[in-house]
Amino acid sequence: MLSLFKKFKDGLQKTAAAVFKAVGKLGGIFGNKQLDDAMIEELEEALIGADFGVETTDEIMAEIKKAYAKDKTLRGQAAAEIGASVLKGILVGSEGRLSELPTEADKPVVIALIGVNGSGKTTTTAKLGYAFKRDGREPVLGACDTFRAAANEQIKVWSERLGLELVSSHQGADAAAVAFDAWSSAVARRRPILVLDTAGRLHTKTNLLNELVKIRRVLEKKDATAPQHRWLVLDGSLGSNSIEQARVFHREFGLTGLIITKLDGTSRGGALVGIFRELKLPIYFTGFGEQPEDLQPFSIENYVDAVFGLKE
Ligand code: GDP
Repeated sequence: MLSLFKKFKDGLQKTAAAVFKAVGKLGGIFGNKQLDDAMIEELEEALIGADFGVETTDEIMAEIKKAYAKDKTLRGQAAAEIGASVLKGILVGSEGRLSELPTEADKPVVIALIGVNGSGKTTTTAKLGYAFKRDGREPVLGACDTFRAAANEQIKVWSERLGLELVSSHQGADAAAVAFDAWSSAVARRRPILVLDTAGRLHTKTNLLNELVKIRRVLEKKDATAPQHRWLVLDGSLGSNSIEQARVFHREFGLTGLIITKLDGTSRGGALVGIFRELKLPIYFTGFGEQPEDLQPFSIENYVDAVFGLKE
């Protein structure tokens, strides 16, 4: 799908540029220049610079160096293909996919979005709702971020703009009660999916983490399997620094997946690989901008090809 690839290509421009930067002056490793030792070294540094991490960089470079040792006339395109193939192997299992949802259901599948303030939860809730609606699965959104005054307003504006059904309450209201009402509303309307925005919290604040546990407990009374999805929304521009944050949320809340936002704003989009390797959690969606359609299902193929400049 070319248009989907374009989203990845445009969204990962800065990361791809960082990978290319080192060798750009030579016409780009991914042009068809012949490699030399200096280019290999620069590529290695560029991968580290794009936050792929030492382990992943070493694995990529080991294969490129092996091929180069065998054939000193190795060209840029061939090296890029080797790198891409190693990276695709590392990312096996990282594509989160929801099983096919019905258009109507007795009980909704519940997705709870979790994460620190500013990671993109509220806007991602709306974007996700929009993606489901476009797909013919009318969702209900629950504004469980009752902590931040602006969050309620923000999600209301988005919901109206995108024609999404929203259940919300006033600032300071009990978040679990909103979750309960949103769930009931989804059941009454036979909606197949419920997306809950939750209050941003520091992963170090236990009392706030407890609020998440309460949301979960309230939902479990209605449906022992809910919330079926507990996705951590991570700001991709923070790079590998967010791994520790993710670890704490995972321990406390049992995450089932990730959404990585703001990849458009960073040259360190390689961090996604380290985050996956560390947490072994599937990445369901990636965010490439502020428009509703800028949230796209994560695709290993598109991500790797965009980073290595393998496709136009
Ligand atoms: P929350 O505090 O976690 O609910 O975060 P918000 O949803 O309020 O998002 C914080 C800011 O990040 C907003 O200005 C969003 O428009 C912006 N944002 C969210 N996702 C993306 C993305 O993928 N790319 C860019 N460039 N901005 C984003």
